[in-house]
Amino acid sequence: MSMRFKEKIVIVTGGGSGIGETSARLFAAEGAFVVIADWNEEDGQRVAASLNAEFSSMIPRSIAVQTDVSQERSVAALMERTRQMFGRLDVLFNNAAVIHLKPIEEISESDFDRLLAVNLKGVYFMIKHAIPLLRLSKGSIVNMASLGGLVGQRNNPIYAASKGGLIALTKSLALDFAPDGVRVNCVCPAGVSTPLLEAWTREQADPAAAAKSLSDMHPLGRPATSEEVAQSVLYLASEQAAFVTGVALPVEGGASLGY
Ligand code: ADP
Repeated sequence: MSMRFKEKIVIVTGGGSGIGETSARLFAAEGAFVVIADWNEEDGQRVAASLNAEFSSMIPRSIAVQTDVSQERSVAALMERTRQMFGRLDVLFNNAAVIHLKPIEEISESDFDRLLAVNLKGVYFMIKHAIPLLRLSKGSIVNMASLGGLVGQRNNPIYAASKGGLIALTKSLALDFAPDGVRVNCVCPAGVSTPLLEAWTREQADPAAAAKSLSDMHPLGRPATSEEVAQSVLYLASEQAAFVTGVALPVEGGASLGY
């Protein structure tokens, strides 16, 4: 096991479930201290407790700080807590997001506002408040985008728009922060088998057909695992990607290659 994040301090937003939780586990396994910043307090505490049980050290290997990334005060408090507890920050993984898999006529104005507030404004708040610490450590930022932000996605227009915006934000901030030695990248998955996606598949009129069409959209013949996506996040966050900035890395089994 390599230890690319030994003694590094990592914040994972939405670290209480799915890809965020898997990433938090992999960061900790490679030596990081992980701050779980999730809106869901119970999930955040559960993940932090299990990391502390698995990886013991003098100070806690993980803390959960209940955070709503769409609220600037909440983000400022998270950063203050991180600074008090660890005194530095090396990696920010912006992963918290919400999704509305619906046609545009069924998406209410409040759904639209909430989605943008979490998926885009939340990243703006997080980076705005994290950058002073990241400049000091010459740290790195990874944002969770989506293939939908690169090529479009049926029945998911507002989420795709938020991820397209996030890709543009990633590239622009990569330019702004390059002189400080802070890299900014994002990953763009297509289907990822998480409990959420499995539940969605089961709810479809023909679950077997839904599962097959989900697999068929990826030339590699299946959706990604959370771990496969998380490993690409760790790569971009690590020194192995020291000369990589501003990229939107597709992690989608070839789904964007053609048809
Ligand atoms: P995925 O499987 O793609 O990782 P999830 O829905 O499992 O998707 O993960 C998204 C995470 O983001 C959840 O843990 C959720 O609680 C968290 N989250 C959603 N909204 C916010 C928010 N406003 N602030 C912080 N975390 C949030």
